[in-house]
Amino acid sequence: MSTNLWHERAAAQSIDGRAFIGGERVWAKSEQRFDNLSPIDGRNLGAVARCDGADVDAAVAAARAAFDDGRWAGKSPAQRKRVLIKFADLVQKYGAELALLETLDMGKPIKYSQSVDVNGTANTLRWYGEAIDKIYDEIAPTAANSLALITREPVGVVAAIVPWNYPMLMAAWKIAPALAAGNSVVLKPSEKSPLTALRLADIALEAGIPPGVFNVLPGFGHEAGAALALHMDVDCIGFTGSTRTGKQILQMAGQSNLKRAWTELGGKSANIVCADCPDLDAAVASAVGSIFFNQGESCNAPSRLFVEESIKERFLEKALAMMPDFQPGDPLDEASVMGAIVDATQLKIVMGYIEAGKSGGAKLLAGGRQARSESGGFYVEPTLFDQVDSSMTIAREEIFGPVLSVLSFTDVREAVRQANATPYGLQAAVWTSNISKAIQTARALRAGTVHVNQYDGDDVTVPFGGYKQSGNGRDKSLHALDKYTELKTTWIQIG
Ligand code: NAD
Repeated sequence: MSTNLWHERAAAQSIDGRAFIGGERVWAKSEQRFDNLSPIDGRNLGAVARCDGADVDAAVAAARAAFDDGRWAGKSPAQRKRVLIKFADLVQKYGAELALLETLDMGKPIKYSQSVDVNGTANTLRWYGEAIDKIYDEIAPTAANSLALITREPVGVVAAIVPWNYPMLMAAWKIAPALAAGNSVVLKPSEKSPLTALRLADIALEAGIPPGVFNVLPGFGHEAGAALALHMDVDCIGFTGSTRTGKQILQMAGQSNLKRAWTELGGKSANIVCADCPDLDAAVASAVGSIFFNQGESCNAPSRLFVEESIKERFLEKALAMMPDFQPGDPLDEASVMGAIVDATQLKIVMGYIEAGKSGGAKLLAGGRQARSESGGFYVEPTLFDQVDSSMTIAREEIFGPVLSVLSFTDVREAVRQANATPYGLQAAVWTSNISKAIQTARALRAGTVHVNQYDGDDVTVPFGGYKQSGNGRDKSLHALDKYTELKTTWIQIG
């Protein structure tokens, strides 16, 4: 679609910021609302319901009633499958609208909103729908006079709290397995990007998810989010967000009803490129493309690049040649590969880290400035720092912006030691032609996912999550169903 047409559609797009509780769109009980500003140009997209504890009570009550009467949990897996597949088809049908909302709301390029966020959401819903009627329970090998069944049951009411960087996709990673397993769900999107989650609720209803089974509460973390995390009738919480908030979520779970609390948190992933890397051009393209993808606002962004000293100069030459390809552009132009930073606060954080890099002694090789300020939106140039060492702030803290820090090494074991010297453990990569070195390094890296000679591998079929302070759960794959099901043993006396 042409840029003009996207802009025309953007101007005509209506926004419904009301919450979705018990199958209906409603404003917050308090009547409080907040303005939803677009990072593309700073314009006000419309008012959004500012839900708080009273709305959380209503949504949890609706979810509980729906769970208890079995309107969804009581359906056969094959019936839930049909509805989830229809849900996926409708996400695809409304794909252009959802992609537009995503781009307007959080600033990512429209082409990725379509190819990654819309397609990924539909694919996730379809995959869990298709999986759920192919999973069998177990019979334990007990003595002959009894039968012990080990069955999986839905946990009950699941709260999903998600961040703003992939608003719809992170929601799908929670709601698809939770709904497939038969739970009722209350989803709280980020206050920075609530629009696609709200549209998903309308679409779910159209697909046949019964009222009350899927509720969406926009609002702030310390209000709606905390009320959900503290709620005595929420059985399980699936959280994706920062490590700081993740710690609070675990505390709130412990402070209330010890709800199951699963966290998918931040990262500071290391990408190690050895001199015997099989394809230097591919390693450069992947290192640069992966950090600047989604404006660097990806939990698994490889923000620490370790390059073996002997190839560093060549590596940096090639990387610098690619920087112009990642200049931020109009997010509604299908040719743009970098869009806007989500809001003024995040822009300030990213610019603060760039200043910390400069004052901390790293060498700024490219970028480092704001861009497209005349648009009224929030844009940052792709930024490359060399001569970074592991003690610097930019090498230690998650920046969540388009900033790549280059460190060098001469012994891969030392690179691994530094790669692991972080509270995070989400992802890592090693590039080498030596199979033993690849396997030894992959084993030594303390991360939930390790890539060898690539960084892009990602699929709904594999678990996604972290070691250490990157979280305690896994999204995606059949393993995600473990989070949203209880294991029950039933002993039957045979005689
Ligand atoms: P955040 O922690 O600020 O917010 C995440 C969600 O939690 C939002 O919906 C927010 O409203 C809510 N929240 C905030 N304070 C709360 C509180 N006190 N109680 C309950 N809820 C609260 O994170 P963010 O800035 O939205 O997202 C960026 C972070 O998410 C980064 O650290 C990134 O690495 C991480 N992330 C991780 C993954 C993963 O799979 N590991 C994926 C995407 C993003």
